[in-house]
Formats: sequence, structure tokens, C-alpha cells
Amino acid sequence: MKSTIIGYPRIGNLRELKFASEKYFRGEITAAELEQTAKEIRLYNLNLQKDSGLDLIPSNDFSFYDGVLDTAFLLNAVPARYTALGLSPLDTYFAAARGYQGEKGDVKALAMKKWYNTNYHYMVPEIDDDTEISLTGTKPFDLFAEALENGVKTKPVIVGAYTFLKLARYKGQKTASDYIAQTAAAYSALLQKFSALGAEWVQFDEPSLVKDLTADDIALFKALYEKILPGKGSVKVLAQTYFGDVRDCYKELCALDFDGIGLDFIEGKQSLALVSANGFPKEKVLFAGVVNGKNIWRNNYAATLDILDTLKRHTGNIVLNTSCSLLHVPCTLSNETKLDASYKKHFAYAEEKLAELAEIRQIADAAQPRETEIFRSNAALHSEPRSGRNDAVREKVAGLTAQDFVRLPAFAEREKIQKERFRLPLFPTTTIGSFPQTADVKSARTALRKGELSAADYEKLIERKIAECVALQEEIGLDVLVHGEFERNDMVEYFGECLDGYLFTEKAWVQSYGTRCVKPPVVWGDISRAKPMTVRWSVYAQSLTEKPMKGMLTGPVTILNWSFPREDISLKESALQIALAIREEVLDLEANGIRIIQVDEAALREKLPLRKSDWRKDYLDWAIPAFRYVHSGVRPETQIHTHMCYSEFADIIRDIDDMDADVITFEASRSDLTILDVLKENNFRTEVGPGVYDIHSPRVPSKEEIKAAIAKMKARIPAEKLWVNPDCGLKTRGNAETVPSLQNLVNAAIEVRNENS
Ligand code: GLN
Ligand code: ZN
Repeated sequence: MKSTIIGYPRIGNLRELKFASEKYFRGEITAAELEQTAKEIRLYNLNLQKDSGLDLIPSNDFSFYDGVLDTAFLLNAVPARYTALGLSPLDTYFAAARGYQGEKGDVKALAMKKWYNTNYHYMVPEIDDDTEISLTGTKPFDLFAEALENGVKTKPVIVGAYTFLKLARYKGQKTASDYIAQTAAAYSALLQKFSALGAEWVQFDEPSLVKDLTADDIALFKALYEKILPGKGSVKVLAQTYFGDVRDCYKELCALDFDGIGLDFIEGKQSLALVSANGFPKEKVLFAGVVNGKNIWRNNYAATLDILDTLKRHTGNIVLNTSCSLLHVPCTLSNETKLDASYKKHFAYAEEKLAELAEIRQIADAAQPRETEIFRSNAALHSEPRSGRNDAVREKVAGLTAQDFVRLPAFAEREKIQKERFRLPLFPTTTIGSFPQTADVKSARTALRKGELSAADYEKLIERKIAECVALQEEIGLDVLVHGEFERNDMVEYFGECLDGYLFTEKAWVQSYGTRCVKPPVVWGDISRAKPMTVRWSVYAQSLTEKPMKGMLTGPVTILNWSFPREDISLKESALQIALAIREEVLDLEANGIRIIQVDEAALREKLPLRKSDWRKDYLDWAIPAFRYVHSGVRPETQIHTHMCYSEFADIIRDIDDMDADVITFEASRSDLTILDVLKENNFRTEVGPGVYDIHSPRVPSKEEIKAAIAKMKARIPAEKLWVNPDCGLKTRGNAETVPSLQNLVNAAIEVRNENS
């Protein structure tokens, strides 16, 4: 049996790519220096994979920002507003990724969206009626050549034609099917080129195939590959799917002239049944995703062998694979120096998953796999009892009843009471919570961790930052203030560190978008609140101002979605345990004089199952109640806000309203406020703050731009229900752009207010 992976993390073991890119953005290093760092990371990863014994090593899984954006550049699908800037190719690429504001012009970034059900974000390609898709880029070929020079004939990885066309946004009259011929020609040309270069395999990533497919989708998929595959020459083509199963197109996938099909046996609930029921084509290779690419737990070899045994009954051509790219797990356990060995032995990050693949390959080829020493020690690990059980918490969760999830009085009555209480102006202005995490805060946290700064001095610094932040907001004229979240490294990690039942890591970074990485905490056992987590900071901040200070918490669904969950405790159980803990914090804040509490559910949309038939039973049926439970115990006059990073919730709009928050703020600017129509059609009840500008980009929005956004909002939503705010937290921004941006925001709101009265 052979082995491969779908892709490897590209940020570097110690986030070298992030730091080099950010230096480049600040003009501190040259493009050549950035390229050099990138090359070092690629070669390091290449050698690591080679040494692990992996048979097929991917290339072109490297990216300076995002693989979908790379594909747009490869295929000439780059909006003219970026190329027209006249920047270098690398800077044109970064302009599309991050926006550009400088002497050559002023353009916004492309839209950014969540990558299926992960916390990774991709850049949405824009295709206009005059876009001519053709093979113009060279990156996959260059990286193939680079690896070859270093002794490895790799398996180039490219976003597949179907997935690319499905992810793109069509600006004109034309739609995906109008681009079949051009796109197929470009992918054919790519295969011919790889064939000429001597590549053995090319991997086309087609995760869009695991979604619910319509007849038109299937027709598009077939039409593309019926045109692409005849031109493949001597290269073998792998159709790689992940994040689910391909129940809607398994037959078509098998019938097309692919040489390999990659299926996900971890998230693909029906993958095994599909193969069992329909068989697997003799002439093709089955790339079996058996090692979880999304979680950090050691693989259970007994379960994996069971899958392989079933598969072996249908095909003799199996390549062991991960379930998805390892992009979604941290690089290496070797930098986790503080985690006790008793925990660490249960973990496998990307590097350790390479070793697992090698072990599985070894035992799968053995005459008696279950008699091997490797198998035995893995079985022993998995049968060890795990610490961290908390029966009191489990009993509390089991004892929850329907009324625990209902807040009284009903929304309309609360809205009245709260309008009376707060007497905010029309279009009240606020922010999402965090303010720029400047170098002083980050280095203080590092010093605290290293024991070079006392806890008391650290806390003094945080208080000073809060005081400055409150003063700044008053000066700018915002209506509802925040404390700035300076005490938090991250909105989930912080709570993970405060809650019992969690483990946290040192260097387990995972890319979220571009140079932004997160360090998801690990659910180790049952979860509970040991002590108040945020109260002292919120109370201190409120003491500095007459204006309402929002208490700022992360909601249970988001904490869980951005953690590495246990595989043997249900998500529902963990979510409700976290909800119990966050509810205690909410009540504590309220008891301490905090009048507005925001419970962020930034990641609620993200883990919505990819298939509609799974939405309710697998997710919404516990996720919405978990949020409701968090705030159902507060007084009517306490205003509950929530925030979501990702406004693509048109399909679950009722469920979002049903979270029963008083106000929801969300990302909308990168999608041109398209969500507003949906809110209007559905008579959305909750007050809303659709983000009026994009904080993922360093550009400063003008007052006019923001007024235009408010006008759009006003045209669809009753003015009394509207809030004005940026589309997400400001922590990744600098003060230089934040202050003028917020000033423009406040001035815009004031002007619209005056025009309104
Ligand atoms: N309150 C958080 C912040 O402002 C929300 C961040 C998010 O939605 N990702 O940073
Ligand atoms: Zn957000």
C-alpha cells in the first residue's frame, strides 16, 4: 500500500511565513527575502515528508495567501482593478488579497469566505462577462520544478475546475456554465504541461462535490471533465474530495476517466457505504482518507483497519491518505514543550500524522495487522481511561428542561424596555469588541509567560490599555463602548485557558486567513467555569465611563467550533457544558452592573453541515439552544448582543432570529451588504448592525463610503433597528487605520442621523 497527504500546512513550524509576510507588508524586507523564507519552508516540508516515507508528496499546496486566489491568478481570473494598479505580480496578488491603498490607487480586497465547514477562509474569485479564463500562471510548474531539483517528483495540487467555478462570484450576466469551454481548455493545457514535465499524478481538489448537488451541478461537473480528461497525456489525474461524501455523484465520478478518486472516510458519513453498495472501478486507484486532517487526536488503528478491510473487498488499489489537507492542524508536536507527556501521547499534529500514515501502511501490509506491536500499542493507548470527567456538570446538562432555553419577556417587550433604558440615538455606533493588539500588549504577554513580568504589572498594563481605549472611544464619539479585549490573546483561546476541562498548547498554530493564525484550545474532559473570567475587566472599563460598556464573551458554539473537540464526547454535550459556564459569566456580569453583554457566535455559521439534510439534527437542534441557554436568565432590561463573522446565513435566517438576541452585528461589507434583502424579506426581528466596513484590510473607508452603506441599510431595515459598526473586531488592525476609520464611521452616522431628523 502507498501513502500520500492532500496538503501540508504552509505557515512554517513557528509561523515563519506569517512573520516574513507581515514584515514585507510593512516594507521591512524585500520581495526576494520573502520569497527566500517561503522557499525554506517549502523545502523543509518537502524533506520532512520525504523522510517520513510518504510515497506521493504534494506540491503547490504552498500559498502566500490562499490557494483559491492562487488558482484565480493561474487562470487569468483577476479583476482589472488589481492589474490596472501597475504593481509587481506579487503586489498585485497581495492587492487582491488585502486591498491596496497608496500612490497607485485605492481598491478593496476580494471577498473572503469560510472554506466549507472550517475556520480557514478563501478569497472569492470574481468572474466578469469579459473574463477570459486561460492558463496564464506558472506557479504549479515552478513549484513542481523546485521539488524535482530537490529530488522529489511531487503530486501537484490544484483547485479543481468544478470547485473553482462553483466558488467564483459572477459579476455580469454569465454564469458558470458559460465558462465550461474556456475553463476546460485551461485545465487541459495544465495537464499537458505536467505530462510534458514528467509528473506522475496531478491532484484536482473537488470538495464542492460533497455538497448537495443539483442536476445542473452534476451536468457542469461532467461537462468540464469530459472535456478536460481526454487531454491528460501520460499524467494520471486524481479527483480529490473531502469534508464529506459524494453520494450525489459517486456514479459519475466513477464513470469519468479519472485515474484516482479520493474519498473522505472520516467526515464522509456515507463514503464506505457508497463503495460497498456500488463497488469501485477496477482500473482506478482509491485514495482513502482515513487519517483525520482536522483533529489532533491519534488515529485509532483498529477503526482504520476496519475501514481498510471493507475497502479491500472492493479494490486492490488503495493509497492511504488524510481525510483533508493538513492545513487545518498545527505543524508539529515537537514545539509543545509544556504539555505533559500523559496528554501529548494522545496527540498527532501534521508531522505526527505523517508518522501515523507510515505506521498504518506498515501494519496494513502485514500478514496479521492486528498482531503487530504497532497495532497493540495503539490499541492500548485508545483503551486507557481518560481523566477529566466531571459528573456534576454532566448531571446539570442532563437536567436541563425546555423552559431553561426561553428568555422572558418576549423580544418585542424587551426591545421597548431597553429603548427606554438606554435612550441611544438613532443608528447607535459601536465596535465588535477588540481594539488593535499593539506590540506592547503582545510583548507584555510574552514576558508574563516567560516569568519576566509579574502578574500585577501585566494587569496594570492591561488597565492602562483599557483606560486609553475608553478615552479614545469617547473622543471619537462612539455610543456603546467596549473595553478592547487587551487581556485576550484570542477570543477562544482565552476562554479555553480559563475553563476547566481544556488543555492549551504553545505553538499549535493553524492558519485562519492570510497571515492570521489561531491556536485552538483542546477539549480534554468535561468543561466547567472555575472562576469569573472577564468580570474584573468589564467592571473596570465601565467605571471609567457613563456610556454603556459592553461585556464581551465568546458563545458556546463558537468556543467549541474553534476548539479541537474530543472525538468520544458528543458536540452537543460539550456545547451545553460550555453554555453552562458562559451563562454563569453572563449572570455575573449582569450582577456587577454591566448593562449590555455581547456573546459572540462568530463561528456559528461555519460548522453548519454541508448537506441540508443534516442541518437540524446534527447541528442547529443543539447549537441554537446552547446559545439561548446562555442568556435566558438575564433581566429584561439587560441587552444581549451577538456577533457573527460570516453573514452567509440566508438559509438559516429564522434560526438566527431564533437565537433571541436583542442585537446582532455581522460581517457584510465584503459581500456588498447582500444579506440585507434577506433580512427584509424575512421580517428579521432582532436589531442589526451589518458591518459598514471591512476590517480584514488595512484600508481606511471614507465617510461617504460609510454613509452609502448606511443608506443601503436604511432602505431595507427600519431605522430604529439599525446599528452602525465595523464588520468584525479590530485586533488585527493598527491604530493608524483604526482611528480615522472609526472617526469616519461616527461622523457618517451623525450625518445620516441629522438628515433623518
Ligand atoms: N469580540 C471579538 C473581537 O472583537 C469578535 C471577533 C470575531 O468575530 N472574530 O475581536
Ligand atoms: Zn467577526
